[in-house]
Amino acid sequence: MLYLIGTPIGNMGDISSRATELLGQADMIACEDTRVTGILLKELGIEGKRLISYHEHNKASKGAEIIKFLKQGINVAQVSDAGMPAISDPGEDLVRLCIDEGVEFTVIPGPVAAVTALVMSGLSTRYYHYEGFLPNSGSDRRKRLKKLKEYDETIVLYEAPHRLRRLLDELTEEGFGEKQAAFCRELTKKYEEVIRMTVADAVEYYEKTEPRGEFVVCLEPLGISGKTKETDDKAIDDEILRLRASGMPVKKISELLSSDTGVSKKEMYARVLNLLKSEDNDRGDL
Ligand code: SAM
Repeated sequence: MLYLIGTPIGNMGDISSRATELLGQADMIACEDTRVTGILLKELGIEGKRLISYHEHNKASKGAEIIKFLKQGINVAQVSDAGMPAISDPGEDLVRLCIDEGVEFTVIPGPVAAVTALVMSGLSTRYYHYEGFLPNSGSDRRKRLKKLKEYDETIVLYEAPHRLRRLLDELTEEGFGEKQAAFCRELTKKYEEVIRMTVADAVEYYEKTEPRGEFVVCLEPLGISGKTKETDDKAIDDEILRLRASGMPVKKISELLSSDTGVSKKEMYARVLNLLKSEDNDRGDL
């Protein structure tokens, strides 16, 4: 049987008695970093466990190995360095493998930084969108940033401290400047801190204050999705026609609108061609 076990996000007091018990009973523990989990086990007084590393870069080969152990009746616990496995951490693939291979598994819940921050933020918890880490760079990152504009729910992001200033600049560019945000740092730890201010104020604040520690950013939504799909479609079509009338080539129009809307270049290219074709046909009909 596989046990996906939640572990503390900072404060050791947050380990549950069930998590401790099952870690103690496991024949083997699959973990991201054997040193980090070694420290946790030492704190819990658990000794002599076989640890195997299971992380983002070896999950394909190690996943198959873990399934083999499980099929032999070995009890495996899986943990990440902190928080819940499978939440911006390895674990999701292991769950999939267990389902595909008919292997039994269960989850021992523990703290999640995103949910802890959401509650601390003071923003709406009724509906929320968990984004986790944005892609590091490039068009994938730009696409996700554009996508964030559509949500009507509180947005929850993970960000490394050295990238926080860049994130704030990007959010400002996307129109979030006047939106409320909560910057939740070092949650559950001694220097836990939550700063609530607009994104624009945070730009100024973090210009003067070096961001340090682990961050969760909760963000009031822009809710541009308040527009109906029909309105969006009409606006895109109008823009295609406007750009075409200005003499822009089809490929360039597709690239530009793909980047603006997050629709793939291929899909946008087909859409532009279709629209221009139907416009030509309409003109022919007249
Ligand atoms: N699986 C974890 C969970 O359940 O939250 C998330 C792991 S993810 C690799 C690590 C990120 O979570 C950090 O970069 C930070 O954004 C956030 N995080 C984890 N612990 C935190 C804490 N104590 N305070 C603030 N953010 C934290």
